[in-house]
This record gives sequence, C-alpha cells and structure tokens, in this order.
Amino acid sequence: MKLRVVVLGAGFGGLELSSILSEERGDELELILIDKNDTFFFGYSKLDVMFGRKTVDSVLLSYRDFVKPGVTFRQETVTSIDPEARRVITDGGIYEADVLVIALGADYDFSATPGLIEGENEFYSFAGAERLGELLSTFTNGHVLIGMTSAPIKCPPAPSEAALLLHDYLTERGVRADCQISLVMPFSIPIPPSLGASKALLKVFKERGITLMSNQGVTALDPERRVAILRDQSEITYDLFLGVPKHRAPDVVIASGMTYDGYIHVSPDDLTSEYPGVYAIGDVTYVGAPKAGMFAEGAAKTAAAHIIAQAEGYESSEIYRGDGICYVEFGGDQVARVEVDFLSDPSSGTFVEPTLGTAREKEHFGASRSARWFGA
Ligand SMILES: Cc1cc2nc3c(=O)[nH]c(=O)nc-3n(C[C@H](O)[C@H](O)[C@H](O)COP(=O)(O)OP(=O)(O)OC[C@H]3O[C@@H](n4cnc5c(N)ncnc54)[C@H](O)[C@@H]3O)c2cc1C
Repeated sequence: MKLRVVVLGAGFGGLELSSILSEERGDELELILIDKNDTFFFGYSKLDVMFGRKTVDSVLLSYRDFVKPGVTFRQETVTSIDPEARRVITDGGIYEADVLVIALGADYDFSATPGLIEGENEFYSFAGAERLGELLSTFTNGHVLIGMTSAPIKCPPAPSEAALLLHDYLTERGVRADCQISLVMPFSIPIPPSLGASKALLKVFKERGITLMSNQGVTALDPERRVAILRDQSEITYDLFLGVPKHRAPDVVIASGMTYDGYIHVSPDDLTSEYPGVYAIGDVTYVGAPKAGMFAEGAAKTAAAHIIAQAEGYESSEIYRGDGICYVEFGGDQVARVEVDFLSDPSSGTFVEPTLGTAREKEHFGASRSARWFGA
C-alpha cells in the first residue's frame, strides 16, 4: 500500500524531506507538497537582491521544476490543520494523511513593532528586501539604522552581514563617507554561539566605522520623526531604517493549538510532535537549534529516516544532532564559516576566518541544493 504523506511548506525543510522520501519510496509514495508560493528562494537571496548583487529573476526557483517520483506539488494556502485527525484544509481542498509533516517556517509579527510595516522598512520579507534595495539605490547621505526587534530570528548572523554588505555597497557608490551605519541587536555579541566569529565581526565593525548597540532592541518606530525607540526608552534618529521584525509561527499553526511559547515543540531525537504521525521540522519548531536552512535540512533528514522506518516496520537509530554550518558574509566578497553542534554544546561554535574560498563554498552550497531540488 502506498504511504500517504502531506508536507506543508516547500522551503528548505519541506523540499529536502520530500526529495528523500521520493528517492527512497518513490514507487510506494503518494506525497502532496503544499506551498502558497509558486517559487522558492534561499533566505540569503534577500541580501543579494537588496544590495543589487543579484536580480530578482536570477534567485527565484519555480516549483514547476520540482519534479520527483511519487510527489505532487500544489500551490495552495493552508488555512486549517487538525493534527489529531491529520487533516489539512487549504484554499484548494482537503487533505488527509498517514503522515503529516509541518514545515511552514517562521512568519513575522509586524504588529508587535508599531511603525514597522511589511514590505516597507524591513528586509526579512522578499518584498521588503526588494523595496529597500530600490531606496538604497538613491541613498547618498545620512544614517542607516539596521534594527533587530527581538530574538529568535532566522539566520542570526544576517543583520551583521547586512551591515558589512551595506558598507561595501555605499563604498562602491562613493558615498560611504557621507553615511553612518548603526546596528541594534538584542544579543550581547554578534553571534552568541561563537566567540571567535563575534570577535572577528567586532574587529571589522570597528575598522569599517559601523556602530554596534548590543543588548538592545527596537520596540517602535516613529516614521514621521524618523526615530527608533529602543528597549531602554532611548531614541535614535535615522534616515533609512532596515528592520528585522519579531518572528513567530504562522497563524495557521498557532490556530492548530500545536504551539507552546510561539513554536511547535518536537522531540529533538526524531522530530515527532505530541500527535501520532505528525512531524514538524525547521523554523516552525523549537528544538534548540538556530533558525537556518542547514538546520532545517538536518531535521528533514532525521524525520525522513523515521517516516521510512515506521512505514517499513523497523526502528531508525537516526537522531537529530542540531549541527550545521552558518556561512557569514564579511564583505569584500569574503565569507567565513561557523560550525556548531547546538544540541550537545551550543557555545562550541568553531570559526573559520573569512576567505574567497569559503565564498565559493557557499555558492556551491546553494548550487548543489538548486540542482538536487530543481535540476537547475
Ligand atoms: C535575510 C535572511 C538571510 C538568511 N541567510 C541564511 C543563510 O545564509 N544560511 C541559512 O542557512 N539560512 C539563512 N536564512 C534562514 C533560512 O532562509 C531559513 O531558516 C530556512 O529557509 C528555514 O527553512 P524552513 O523549511 O523551516 O522554512 P522556509 O524555508 O521558510 O519555508 C516555509 C514555507 O512555508 C510556506 N508557507 C508558510 N505559510 C504557509 C501557508 N499558510 N500555506 C502554504 N504555505 C505556507 C512558505 O511560503 C515557505 O515556502 C536567512 C533568512 C533571512 C530572512
């Protein structure tokens, strides 16, 4: 009998899990993969688009090209999830599954920060990165404030990367001397799991005249006065604000009753939820690992191993390790890497200094996923 799987969300986690199940059980699989969008993009593409390093068209990968035995893609929006019945309602139909996998990622809560508007003064949505890219192209002098509102966020190094790429961008346009760059973050150091990476970032911030305000957060904006209000009630003026919104699970996940403290808590060993046959992977979960692509991919591998084992009647010994790599853009086309094993020692991050070679490694990381998932 075919295994009926429904996967919600075709991001990093959903694409990898669907690929593995197809490879292992393509002939005996009826997998429906659902996403509201018609294209996938890597999270870091938002920075590439914002700073004009890549065009929008060049970073979008069409789900039409995600063609795998046993897998059907549906572009629909999930409107209701019943985890007990493993039943899902979308704007296009009703689905029931033997195995339900929730991989809907983290969403943004714009209302938590008055004055912060989706697609206007934040760069964590694709529309926001595009819009700020347009504004930056005519920005010639003044204060650019990159502001985090809270943690956790997707890709914790991304705000620091944005500051360094902005420095390069303004330098290349010959206006850096007329601009100030500040970065507000709630962390005490730029990348808390890696002291080495944080020290290296602090050094380059100093060299490049980037002001860091740590242990802080933007609580509200007053766009008319161009003022950001910080946690300690102090105010800071800006000419351009590049914001990182508060994150939370998508509304439909919260309405399903599966979340505690904002995210789905799953067994870190096998990514099962408290509901039989229901798994959750990636940014929509709380497992102690960061919200980043490689960690969602690792969770997908572990969940897939357990789904296959269960279907074939044996026990999988695969355990999610919460380990992975974060590539960190340092500017000057150089990329560093931080390797962390979050579940055994979250402060153990190993830092490898930025090089052009690691920049090529990051390119290969993206290209290999594009090829594996989309044949691109
Ligand atoms: C600026 C920025 C830079 C980043 N840089 C990096 C980096 O360098 N390296 C890295 O590893 N990670 C990076 N990330 C983080 C990375 O993009 C995410 O952590 C990763 O994509 C998480 O994978 P996921 O499968 O959990 O969720 P996602 O990839 O977010 O996928 C979730 C999917 O669910 C879909 N969805 C949501 N709600 C619904 C609904 N109701 N109905 C239907 N579909 C829905 C979405 O359309 C989406 O496709 C970055 C993120 C940002 C914002």
